[in-house]
Amino acid sequence: MNDLLYNKKVICPVCNREIEVTKVKTKGCRVKSRDTDLCVYYEGINVLFYDVWVCEHCGYAALQDKFESIFTRDIPVIREKISSHWTRRSFSGERDVERALEAFKLALLNLQVRKAKSSEMAKVCLRIAWLYRAKEDKKEIDFLTFAAESYNDAYQKERFPLDKLDEYTCMYIIAELYRRIGKLNESVLWFSRIVSSSGARSNPKLIDMARDQYQLAKDQLAANDGTVEA
Ligand SMILES: [Zn+2]
Repeated sequence: MNDLLYNKKVICPVCNREIEVTKVKTKGCRVKSRDTDLCVYYEGINVLFYDVWVCEHCGYAALQDKFESIFTRDIPVIREKISSHWTRRSFSGERDVERALEAFKLALLNLQVRKAKSSEMAKVCLRIAWLYRAKEDKKEIDFLTFAAESYNDAYQKERFPLDKLDEYTCMYIIAELYRRIGKLNESVLWFSRIVSSSGARSNPKLIDMARDQYQLAKDQLAANDGTVEA
């Protein structure tokens, strides 16, 4: 196994059996660069590949920081809708992008059967889009679209912060995702809300990024002038 990885034993909260999960060591988490939609690249290893844990015994899957904190009321539905169809297979050890996609799609399926909040679905969909980006696969756009709509829904219905996500960063992500999927009118509207908001000024880095992307979205819109959006 890659020496930036290590295995750890945890108890699955759905079936109560022990499983082995693979984590990235702290020294593997050195940031190399970021995309404008906040996708992070690391030196040496793709940390994102390891962000979902899957129970090999029952098929329960979730983002690692949420894995152990599932609501008791959600356990029966996972047993009924997922475990009963599960073919036992392990997700520990080194992952390639395909294995990571499989793990993330299981996490998404688990959220769907639990009828999870839009913000949780959005977070996983955005990461699936980033995995497709790593593969240069056009399905990236489908998942950016799901993520944009789910964050938009979360923005309307949920209370901030959404887990660790503050209101202005959420607005920024919605604006930038709309820009990337070609919904330029919506993108410009959301960017304009951020740059004119007094609350967002407490995060100068975010405001700077929003100004740059706002200009880009307006330029793209002007270039598309008179044409119908895709
Ligand atoms: Zn389990």
